[in-house]
Amino acid sequence: MGAVAAMQRNDAAQAAPGAQPARLRVEEVSLRYRTPEGGTFSALEKVSFEVPDQQFAVIVGPSGCGKSSLLYLTAGLAEPTEGDIYVGGQRVEGPGADRGMVFQSYTLFPWLTVRENIEFGLKRRGLPAAERREIVDYYLDEVGLARFAGNYPKQLSGGMMQRVAIARALANDPQILLMDEPFGALDSQTRMQMQKLLLRVWDHSKKTVVFVTHDIDEAILLGDRVYVMGARPGRIKRILDVPIERPRSLDMVMDRGFIDMKREILGLLHDDLEEAH
Ligand code: ADP
Repeated sequence: MGAVAAMQRNDAAQAAPGAQPARLRVEEVSLRYRTPEGGTFSALEKVSFEVPDQQFAVIVGPSGCGKSSLLYLTAGLAEPTEGDIYVGGQRVEGPGADRGMVFQSYTLFPWLTVRENIEFGLKRRGLPAAERREIVDYYLDEVGLARFAGNYPKQLSGGMMQRVAIARALANDPQILLMDEPFGALDSQTRMQMQKLLLRVWDHSKKTVVFVTHDIDEAILLGDRVYVMGARPGRIKRILDVPIERPRSLDMVMDRGFIDMKREILGLLHDDLEEAH
């Protein structure tokens, strides 16, 4: 059995038949910042939710509602003021390879080739060269970059760099993939290509994903569930299941179910704006 097949089989073996264990559990998480005036600003207030295993969860909300903060806390890059976060039952106490991250700004190592970037975490974990090669080849193929394996990041377009970032995150076989506006800096054509690519790659990997966006179309297109946040203080206002079957395609934005859901989310976001004024 190849390295990739072994990895996928191992994942399947961990889930009890029929059971849907929560891969991510956020428990009563609050995050407060000190203001220059000596007071505190509440970025997140008692946020609680669970993301089941193998779910594609999308967080939407107005700018400043704490979406990025929530991902940073889950990544272990910051600590909540109160509350706890669990990934695969383990309390988050700092950054770890069990959480893969893809951010909006390109975070590739500029001095490494595409192959070396994807291989980076595998090397650190001490995987033998043949196994590393097999895993990297698989993900290069998944994101359509086999021909660019020897290129350096500066020789790639923005979309290609994000494809490398996705391949690198998945190659490490994380428990959960955290994506913070990963397509936010791309032009609309490239963004659509990337959404299509992510739908396909996710369908193969079935990783638990938490994806942050402020683009409602993107949220519905990609997600199994949409977590709508409100601001001041940052909180989850509503959790909506996306009632649209997979495989999804970009032209489903015309479907009735899609439009109804978009209207509902827009209503929730609009209420939040009204409350703020
Ligand atoms: P979003 O991703 O939804 O736009 P963020 O998580 O980036 O929101 O920010 C949530 C709120 O916390 C914002 O109002 C932001 O200004 C504030 N904030 C973020 N980081 C800091 C910080 N280091 N110090 C003070 N306030 C911060």
